[in-house]
Amino acid sequence: MPLQEIQARIEKAELAAGRAAGSVKLIAVSKVQPNDRVQAVLDQGHRVFGENRVQEAAEKWPDFKAQFDNVSVHLIGPLQTNKARQAMGLFDAIHSVDRPKLAKTLARLAQEQGQCPDLFIQVNTGEEDQKAGVLPTDTDDFVQQCRSLDLPVVGLMCIPPVDEEPSLHFALLAKIAARNGLDDLSMGMSSDFESAIALGATHIRVGSAIFGARVQHQKQTDSAENP
Ligand SMILES: *Cc1c(COP(=O)(O)O)cnc(C)c1O
Repeated sequence: MPLQEIQARIEKAELAAGRAAGSVKLIAVSKVQPNDRVQAVLDQGHRVFGENRVQEAAEKWPDFKAQFDNVSVHLIGPLQTNKARQAMGLFDAIHSVDRPKLAKTLARLAQEQGQCPDLFIQVNTGEEDQKAGVLPTDTDDFVQQCRSLDLPVVGLMCIPPVDEEPSLHFALLAKIAARNGLDDLSMGMSSDFESAIALGATHIRVGSAIFGARVQHQKQTDSAENP
């Protein structure tokens, strides 16, 4: 689907929700997409992208950033602590802060470097064993812990279970964010971003609807399961 069509659908959902046109940030999820497809979206003027692997982003984005101004790249996949330093150099935002050990590592690096990407805490709203994220009941404490480490936490992120109504998860995430005074909500993907916008998403992560189906990759399972 052309980028313009996605943008039109976003604007329609923004207005339907009584929100200002242009208030939702579209993160174009370029993971596993061939470079020519990514380049085509850059050529159309889009500048905000999402990747779920540090290594893949490191191979792809420095070249594009040299060619195009004002590109920002968000990490939307799991982050191992031993890749945290590299991630801080590559990404403008990290949506997958999900455990104390990672928070402490990011805090140490942020102190050392005097800067830190915007951080989202990932919440496992469906309480799925295979999925990353803090449990809803642990989120308030974890937000506090991140704040006491002086981390720039801007919001929460979730990936709803594939077989459940996503709006229930979006509403839960919005509720947890509100009671913690967090403004940003990273929620909504190709199949459900309109419902996420209706429930307050500030950042939507849309891949296949923009770029087409992901081309399979040997080491990559094609899913938003995380990890
Ligand atoms: C791949 C991925 C997306 C995009 O999924 P689409 O269904 O292609 O829009 C969004 N969020 C996360 C965390 C992902 O891994």
